[in-house]
Amino acid sequence: MLTPTIEFPHFCAQCEDYPCVESCSFDALSVSDETGAVIVDKEQCTACGQCIQACPGRIPHIHPTEKYAVICDLCGGDPQCAKVCEEGRWNVLWVVPKPPSSSYKLYARRPKEITEDLAKNLYGEYGKELV
Ligand code: SF4
Ligand code: SF4
Ligand code: SF4
Repeated sequence: MLTPTIEFPHFCAQCEDYPCVESCSFDALSVSDETGAVIVDKEQCTACGQCIQACPGRIPHIHPTEKYAVICDLCGGDPQCAKVCEEGRWNVLWVVPKPPSSSYKLYARRPKEITEDLAKNLYGEYGKELV
């Protein structure tokens, strides 16, 4: 029997209080005035991992060979992931304006939490056994 698996993108939510930026002791993180994205200064980053621990979704990760934190920078305001998703007709990712009063931190969730919910939505009770 084939067992369905769950794969889902794990993106920065641009939390309104930016706990990752607050946690960095090396001034390696800042917030873009234009997009609200977190910007990583590779030269300043020591790959200490504090920002990963501070993120509610553990979304930053350390580059496997170059040892700096990797966080979505929204491609400078033109997200390429959404573009290829649309071109491929998967229609999972869209670019939408951020409502000023919304808390996007709610979307900063760990991969296991996201996939558990998704599996239950897609496969009902059976989904619980997949994650
Ligand atoms: S890994 Fe880099 S960006 Fe993250 S807290 Fe450490 S120095 Fe700052
Ligand atoms: S989701 Fe994580 S990486 Fe993105 S702003 Fe929030 S704390 Fe920072
Ligand atoms: S493609 Fe660009 S917008 Fe999409 S996750 Fe990567 S850095 Fe962020």
